[in-house]
Amino acid sequence: MRKLAVVFFLLWFAVESQSQTLSPEVKAFVKVDAPVVALTHVRVIDGTGAAAREDQTIILRQGKIESVSDAASANVSKDAQVLDLHGYTVIPGLVGMHDHMFYPMGNAVFGEMAYSFPRLYLAGGVTTIRTTGGLEPYTDLELKKQIDKGKTPGPKMHVTGPYLEGPGTFAVQMHQLSGPDDATKTVNFWLDQGVDNFKAYMFITPDELGAAVAAAHKRGAKVTGHLCSIGFREAADLGIDDLEHGLFVDTEFSPDKKPGKCPEDSENPKLMAQLDVKSGPLHETILYLVQHHVAVTSTLPVFEMGSFAGRPTLEKRVLDALSPDARSALLWNRVRSSDSSRLKQRYGGDVSPWPAAFQKELEFEYAFSKAGGLLLAGLDPTGMGGVIAGFGDQREVELLVEAGFTPVEAIHIATYNGAQFLGDLDRTGTIAAGKQADLVVIKGDPSKKIEDIENVETVFKDGVGYDSAKLIDSVRGHVGTN
Ligand SMILES: [Zn+2]
Repeated sequence: MRKLAVVFFLLWFAVESQSQTLSPEVKAFVKVDAPVVALTHVRVIDGTGAAAREDQTIILRQGKIESVSDAASANVSKDAQVLDLHGYTVIPGLVGMHDHMFYPMGNAVFGEMAYSFPRLYLAGGVTTIRTTGGLEPYTDLELKKQIDKGKTPGPKMHVTGPYLEGPGTFAVQMHQLSGPDDATKTVNFWLDQGVDNFKAYMFITPDELGAAVAAAHKRGAKVTGHLCSIGFREAADLGIDDLEHGLFVDTEFSPDKKPGKCPEDSENPKLMAQLDVKSGPLHETILYLVQHHVAVTSTLPVFEMGSFAGRPTLEKRVLDALSPDARSALLWNRVRSSDSSRLKQRYGGDVSPWPAAFQKELEFEYAFSKAGGLLLAGLDPTGMGGVIAGFGDQREVELLVEAGFTPVEAIHIATYNGAQFLGDLDRTGTIAAGKQADLVVIKGDPSKKIEDIENVETVFKDGVGYDSAKLIDSVRGHVGTN
């Protein structure tokens, strides 16, 4: 009897020591929480780019991956909680590299979705994010603390400082830098506050970008950019680490481009569609970025939402997550974007030039990656309001497959590559013994049918399994409000 009591106490202690930091608010979403968990008979896509392996067993112990092996030879200890996952696939937690916390409220004002977005990211299988531009960086930093302490559900966060923007911005929530000294001061101030990366924005001057990069690099932080006043090759010369969005925002091919200035037509889909990834100036840019170790972040969902009449398919789960106001704004925007009289007025014909430009972006990203470039994956919420946390990250992986990557390559880009860029690869980004147990349990086989990536059932973060459906349910009608 006493022996049994001791065993019981040890078990209780082990369970309690692992979950004691989780608040009741977080515990409400926990489906699996045991010191040892065995995911048996599951298909594993490990994130390295290797082919899917059938009938594997993954053992999680104290929040980490202990082993991955053939189910037949796996040594499942008696104390393990066993999940039989026949018919399921496990992939590493996604690493979302353009995963903001804000939502457009109209008239170029953005509201922080500090309640709904962290839940949706986690529910969608995203266990690590980079915020990639913050409009409320203090909120993002506090949110990160709350998530890390187990007080609120959400992904691990790399918080980006406030946008490094120059004069002339459209966004009233962005500080406009007054010169390179201000850029240096701003970077140092926000590094002191706890951010670990920065994003330069459209109107930043070359001097300011150079100063920001130098200040960030001095303290081990990285800088990405959604640029306009500076072309991609010039940004590479200034030492930038990453470029957001790809070709859509590279102004260096624009005939009106003047040094340090954003050209009138900052996005030129007709010109873009004419560029060739295999030869000429665009090909040279690809090679230049690869040589200079500049990454590119793919954000295809936001461009798909803006480029195609009728695409993407409006999903019920997205509409359900939106507040009534946000839902009607999205539906109105969708109707307007495919209105033929509006197309005629804007482009002089019935055909939008954007689908051809989107196709070119797919070609560019594929060519960049195949040339040895580090391609990262994000969603960029929210376009016209329909690209939202978690669901958009899954759509990004599907669109990478449309670009020509195999499903396993697309998953590699959305997991391993992001972790590598963030310096997290020793802890996450692949399924391997010794790493943190950040894993997504998916019904079906995304290695054959990438759309199965939408069938997330359980998301493990540090070995704790969260109920995806419950998280999604908890924010029904909240997106667009909080
Ligand atoms: Zn963005």
